[in-house]
Amino acid sequence: MVERAESESRKLLGRLRDTMADKAAGQERLDQITHLTADSMGTEVCSIYLFRDDETLELCATQGLNPESVHQTRMKLGEGLVGRVARTGKVINAADAPSAKGFRYMPETGEEIYSSFLGVPIQRLGEKLGVLVVQSKEAREFSADEIYALEVVAMVLAEMTELGAFVGEGAALRARHTEPVLMRGVAAQEGAAEGHIWLHEPRVVVTNLVGDDPESERSRLHEAVENLRVSVDQLLAGASDDHEQVQVLEAYRMFANSKGWLRRMEENIGRGLSAEAAVEKEQSDVRARMSQATDAYLRERLQDLDDLSNRLLRILTGQGTQTGAELPENPILVARNIGPGELLEYGRQLRGIILEEGSVGSHAAIVARALAIPLVINVARITNEALNGDHVMVDGDEAVVHLRPGDTVVSAFRDKMAMQAKAQERYASIRDKPATTLCGKTIRLEMNAGLMADLPSLENSGAEGVGLFRTELQFLIRSQMPRRTELAALYARVLDAAHGKRVVFRTLDIGSDKVLPYMKAQDEPNPALGWRAIRVGLDKPGVMRMQLQALLRAANGRPLSIMFPFVAQYEEYAAARAEVDKALARETKLGHALPESLEIGAMLETPSLAFACKKFYQEVEFLSIGGNDLKQFFFAADRENELVRRRYDTLNVSFLTFIEGIVYRCKSTNTPLSFCGEDAGRPVEALCLAAIGLHSLSMRPASVGPVKHLLRRCNLDDVRKIIHDARNAGDQTVRPAVMEYLRGLS
Ligand code: PEP
Ligand code: MG
Repeated sequence: MVERAESESRKLLGRLRDTMADKAAGQERLDQITHLTADSMGTEVCSIYLFRDDETLELCATQGLNPESVHQTRMKLGEGLVGRVARTGKVINAADAPSAKGFRYMPETGEEIYSSFLGVPIQRLGEKLGVLVVQSKEAREFSADEIYALEVVAMVLAEMTELGAFVGEGAALRARHTEPVLMRGVAAQEGAAEGHIWLHEPRVVVTNLVGDDPESERSRLHEAVENLRVSVDQLLAGASDDHEQVQVLEAYRMFANSKGWLRRMEENIGRGLSAEAAVEKEQSDVRARMSQATDAYLRERLQDLDDLSNRLLRILTGQGTQTGAELPENPILVARNIGPGELLEYGRQLRGIILEEGSVGSHAAIVARALAIPLVINVARITNEALNGDHVMVDGDEAVVHLRPGDTVVSAFRDKMAMQAKAQERYASIRDKPATTLCGKTIRLEMNAGLMADLPSLENSGAEGVGLFRTELQFLIRSQMPRRTELAALYARVLDAAHGKRVVFRTLDIGSDKVLPYMKAQDEPNPALGWRAIRVGLDKPGVMRMQLQALLRAANGRPLSIMFPFVAQYEEYAAARAEVDKALARETKLGHALPESLEIGAMLETPSLAFACKKFYQEVEFLSIGGNDLKQFFFAADRENELVRRRYDTLNVSFLTFIEGIVYRCKSTNTPLSFCGEDAGRPVEALCLAAIGLHSLSMRPASVGPVKHLLRRCNLDDVRKIIHDARNAGDQTVRPAVMEYLRGLS
């Protein structure tokens, strides 16, 4: 019985292949497939319904229903049995369709005489394309073998759709991947970019679906699975102690050795599929199960299996490894998600990045920001829609992606880019000039950095130094704790690249949103207020000591600036300083060169430090306001929470008054003060900060030009007066008054 079903299935597949090979037009091919399928399954009707748009299905070919209704009969997603198959992605097998739940009678088709109904979804890699249906007069349920056979036809249809087999004169289908698509996501790094798609993991397209010789297909499958097992074992052997990574690889290994998985794929071959089609059929089944699973753990494991199938397909087809392939001109990277290390490998060659998943605080986003590459995340279906080489425009300001844009979009977008380029030219022309205001005050502009890759910006942006070097990025992008020698070498290279300009190294600032992959994450009720930054450093001093040593060695006799993050009270600063003294004593004992000069500062990120004792202000050698954190605590508004993070304006009078208080305190003790939060890089905010006495600002390199350009056109005395007037008038924010002033500038 099984053998009979297998040989029937093989026969049908063989005939389908002949249809594919035929030079017929798209519609004719679809018609032939309905004819063949009905014939082979012994049903009176076979129909193909395809999506016209996201919500509408259209009868595109039929054997048995009224031919006049082809391209006329349409239904909404979820409407009738066909619409239900499309919506749920599940098979409907009804002996008496008219009495089945949701049945909708469509008189123009003449289907009233048919009783049984079998509908299967046509989908490719989870993407819904349509529904394939057979119907017959005889009231009967279809067997498991028949369902299987129809699913295989649906899969062939899906693959052929991907290959554009149904496009043409009187076309049943629009050509796929040819039309312009506008997609929206979430902005993670601003900037506009135009270029061509580079799929991080390109889709595999299976062209030979049918296997004539099951034995040779089986041995191809076995060989590929064996390769897969070896590669997973190699990955495991090379894996770090990273618990999570090892867990995923263990799961991979378990699946790769799973007899059930292999058996199901072998069965698919037995029914006439090629080895790769057999893998893909199993993958579709897994995806169907995945979409039903509600348990997060199970979904993750099924996701692993899905990834593994992809690997196997790549081995079988030799596609998609991208090795040797060349990046297109102006590459725009598209991926479901990407790790920070992989992103760094691409580095600055990328013009833009589009991710299907990701989060604003993810490490990949941190790297993209550090590299100043426009990044849009959470762009649903981009990995399905985009093809390698497709023309694309990424708008990181508006969080919009124009895939295969039409002429109007292209010219509007290019206008926008040209305006930005013009502004850049203006900034370049003042790069070597000081940020001196009309009232004669010179503001020091430094840049924030975190990667070696940032250092060239020191020259290009015209920044006078690195006001904040976020050392945690080096820790975040690795799968294991870096060693002291590695860090020392890296910090030394940073100092080399700075050519004597000041670099302020901030010690490890982890916790809250920055979780090291190799450190056990703490389950804290409120991580932003939790065990983070200097608190971790002081409670577990091993890493801090290692980092301090690395910094001292890197300086190797050169000047060194170290800054402790998230200091909330004097004692924390004193304790951290004591660690520096210990490290210095140790270096002296070892006979190593000490820094020519050493300044130890703190970040002012908690309101408490603004009110710390005078002794603190006298002892600390410099202070830098971490406005990102300070603002979230001042307004009690989580910086990671989209619902509240933009609720309070930096130019809020209370906040500016608070900052001004810090400026006065620092003046009274002669403590150098700067500001290194994101607001320092926003020109209007930077202007107001400068006006209330912050004469040193550190920002993203790309912001140095715009901030300098504005400062050079303004009079700080005027702006200070505007702020004071706004305060006296009881205004909530000074923004409207400052904007009014800016409009009046020549
Ligand atoms: C800040 O809080 O303003 C700051 C500069 O530090 P980070 O953004 O790294 O927390
Ligand atoms: Mg901070």
